[in-house]
Amino acid sequence: MEPKDAVAATEALGALAEAIKDCRRCGLCEGRTQVVFGVGSATADLVFIGEGPGYHEDRLGEPFVGQAGKLLTELLAGIGLTRADVYIANVVKCRPPENRDPLPDEIEACSPHLMDQLAVIRPRVVCTLGRFATRLLADTELSITAVHGKAKDVTLAGLKTTVFPVFHPAAALYTPSNRKVLEEDFAKLRRLLTEDSAGEPQGGEGPSTGPADDEDAGADRVQGAAGGGVFRPDTHVERQLPLW
Ligand code: SF4
Repeated sequence: MEPKDAVAATEALGALAEAIKDCRRCGLCEGRTQVVFGVGSATADLVFIGEGPGYHEDRLGEPFVGQAGKLLTELLAGIGLTRADVYIANVVKCRPPENRDPLPDEIEACSPHLMDQLAVIRPRVVCTLGRFATRLLADTELSITAVHGKAKDVTLAGLKTTVFPVFHPAAALYTPSNRKVLEEDFAKLRRLLTEDSAGEPQGGEGPSTGPADDEDAGADRVQGAAGGGVFRPDTHVERQLPLW
């Protein structure tokens, strides 16, 4: 892979953000305060993708600034990283009303924006936070409870990368025992980042260590949508790592 040009990548992301600031591609434009594009390093090796902006994110224009964002910052600190070391964005960039789940047609409408971001940043690892980002970017119908903490090689926007799903940090706010699961998965994420990109992923893990959480609530709707081909991003599974 060619070395990343930080200036060019920052300018390219800025141009993308400018291009979609008035986006009306889906109905979420009606209730938003602003498009929440993303934040962080334009050349990050690690990108986090969440679900969509909440109340605080909508007001401030930055993803993960509420309680879940505070936990994400703490989890990053636990593996020696800051928010400035990574890039953080969401599957949909406008706040769903009443913080409801994003609908399949909204995810389909917004996913090209996300693919454009990933094409610029070219991350080695995309850590998906929760079920919506995981199903979109790993092109899977498996539940987040089944696949969290397990790496999978994919091609996103023409770029070979690795998807690494974890629970959405909000799951630990509702179910405190999930924080330990997140900490364990972040420790694996740290190892994944430090491995040779062509090396073996960490292995030998048993089944999911975490309790079933609220993440899979409402999963049938999205699962059904994916199965019906309602949204299919430019995602192709190149090979499956041993863990998944
Ligand atoms: S959610 Fe995405 S596709 Fe929908 S209006 Fe906002 S930026 Fe556009």
